[in-house]
Amino acid sequence: MNLSSKSFFLLLVLFLFTALKPDDTREKSDLIAQRVQNLLNEMTLEEKVGQMTQITIEAVSKTKGTVDQPNEIDYDKLEEAITKYHVGSILNVYDVAITVDRWHEIIKEIQDIAINKTRLSIPVIYGIDAIHGATYTLGSTIFPQAINMAATWNRNLLEKEGEITSKQVRACGISWNFYPVLDIGRQPLWPRLWETYGEDVYLASELGESYIHGAQGDDISNPGKLATCLKHYVGYSYPLNGRDRTPAWISEMTLREYFLPTFEAGIKSGSPTVMVNSSEINGIPTHSNYHLLTEVLKNELKFDGFVVSDWEDIKNLYNRDKVASSPKEAVKMAVMAGVDMSMVPKDFSFYNYLLELVNDGEVPVSRIDDAVRRILTVKMKLGLFEDPMPINNYEAEFNNDSYNKINYEAAVESVVLTKNENNFLPLSNKSKILVTGPTANLLSVMNGGWTFTWQGNEERIYPQSENTLLEAIQNNVGKENVEYFPGSTFDELVDIDNLKDAAEGIDVIVACLGEAAYCESIGNINDLTLDSAQLELVDELSQTGKPIVLVMLEGRPRLINSIVDKVNSVLIGFLPGLQGGDAIADIIFSNVNPSGKLSVTYPKFPNGFTCYDYKPIEDFGSNNYDPQWAFGYGLSYTTFEYSDLKIDKTELKKDEDLTVSVKVKNTGSRKGKEVVQLYVHDLYGSVSRPVKQLKGFEKIELKPGELKEVKFTIKPEQLSFIGRNNKRIIEPGDFEIYVDSLKAGFKLL
Ligand code: BGC
Repeated sequence: MNLSSKSFFLLLVLFLFTALKPDDTREKSDLIAQRVQNLLNEMTLEEKVGQMTQITIEAVSKTKGTVDQPNEIDYDKLEEAITKYHVGSILNVYDVAITVDRWHEIIKEIQDIAINKTRLSIPVIYGIDAIHGATYTLGSTIFPQAINMAATWNRNLLEKEGEITSKQVRACGISWNFYPVLDIGRQPLWPRLWETYGEDVYLASELGESYIHGAQGDDISNPGKLATCLKHYVGYSYPLNGRDRTPAWISEMTLREYFLPTFEAGIKSGSPTVMVNSSEINGIPTHSNYHLLTEVLKNELKFDGFVVSDWEDIKNLYNRDKVASSPKEAVKMAVMAGVDMSMVPKDFSFYNYLLELVNDGEVPVSRIDDAVRRILTVKMKLGLFEDPMPINNYEAEFNNDSYNKINYEAAVESVVLTKNENNFLPLSNKSKILVTGPTANLLSVMNGGWTFTWQGNEERIYPQSENTLLEAIQNNVGKENVEYFPGSTFDELVDIDNLKDAAEGIDVIVACLGEAAYCESIGNINDLTLDSAQLELVDELSQTGKPIVLVMLEGRPRLINSIVDKVNSVLIGFLPGLQGGDAIADIIFSNVNPSGKLSVTYPKFPNGFTCYDYKPIEDFGSNNYDPQWAFGYGLSYTTFEYSDLKIDKTELKKDEDLTVSVKVKNTGSRKGKEVVQLYVHDLYGSVSRPVKQLKGFEKIELKPGELKEVKFTIKPEQLSFIGRNNKRIIEPGDFEIYVDSLKAGFKLL
């Protein structure tokens, strides 16, 4: 083909592509495949390797951004990165959130160089960690963190979060979000527990799917949609010693039973990118694991998107893990294992080494073509080739009341009332309150990491228009009815005598404890027990004889067993986001009814952590299951009565569905939401079976006296498990179904 007929052909393909209706998905993906192949045919090796290179914005910046001054881009360096090294992707902020306008300037500059100053005009894909809202954009909707979103057990709220976040991220001109985290949170010490949807595979899979659907819709090129990224594939969340980026020891069977299914669900939902586990499993750093990245992810699960490394993790194969004996060998290992894009991210070493490796015949061009094909396909699916520039009219996407309302609902539904002695809560708004504790008057403690900065602890950047818990309590009862004494920092008692004196004239103490904001390894701890100063604070307060409401704001369940008996009510707030203060105060003063249920088990002791779906041996002999509060637990201000649990068959063939129904009635005096949870117990199995496993849930709302019937369908594959041969099997036998305290049994033939 000469140049003009080639251009004509490309134009024709482009025309057909844009003229297609959304239901022509098949044709659209064929056309994309064709366009990508055409482009690949034209690319030099340098251009291809550049597409596989991702750098951080810091690498092309002159100065670091501060709260008052955004970072200054070094445009010469940026141009060099895109024109000389052909980088395909840029990520992150340096170091603080910026305005939408500033994002527009940066993204326009990047895409302008990519489109107008390179031979093939391939747009750059920009990636960001918008993990609970557009966290690096000032003025965005900052939702509760994942551990809270999971505690809502509300698929609709997850979908809405995905939708709103995508609109705001895309409004900045960014089309790739490193989210959702589909790691399973079964290690409470892990400082990234709050980034997960909790400990249960089914709950996390369902909520991950809802989020992805909201974020991507049916077509990621549509306005306000973007590409999600499933992370951190796989097993990252289960470090034996509880510290971030330390080894996990997970058998193939356990990996497939507990850690792989969420990723499988994410892939089925159409997420086009996956980020790799930064650590190692069974001695094999995941970035070098051909079995997991290529054999399982790409071949078995048929993932046809691209795999991005985590931060510096290809370098880490040499620098940290010592499985490669040189940085160049590390690049070869990772690319040959199946990594398609390297988050290098501060230099061009990956680019240089990979070029050499291909030129020396150590990495075949076919592997490069495979990686680049995957990357270009995602860029095309995003519509970046049609228009890589930010949208013009974005104002409606920010400071949007309807988004704030959804965020507030999410915050309310994510808070879990775990103790309420003699219905002590709600309080009257005529009460005189003493507010105390290190988390009472900060916004950062309700948001945690990845909020405006990586660590999320720059209180100064938080929008002062939002209420801390103290401010929200003042708004409920009037400032004049609230006394405030910090009582302790996170780890030191302060001013305790004045505090005790102040308690004399008040009705109720609200003690706000927990953790300061943190992210990744900065959040490592040696002991899950809450800092002793905070426990002492409650000890001291209990001596005043005044009733105490305890509020926990924290990223993981810090142990509070020694003070639970000393307080009247407990609200586990975890990280409820920017509307968390209002949400918790509204629960305390009866404006709303709590409906959150724990998405992780809240342990009682600093040893022997046991998830709710434990094995029989964990409650046998001298072992016992004794959490502070179990997964799925949470109280309401009303009461619900369950009746008429029915199953449509008592004998089930392997290819049949089982229909389960149950009636739920609101027997209390106020409207409330209830999470109807269905658990299955496989009584005997060739691999020891968990005592129960969540297989269905529905969140319903009932007025006082109202009764609803809830129906569930159990699919045969939901009765399956990973057998001794590491394959998914379904075994005949006896099963039990539990809903609340009701039980029914059936036999699988
Ligand atoms: C984290 C990832 C994140 C990446 C980019 C890494 O340190 O592990 O979750 O997406 O940084 O910011």
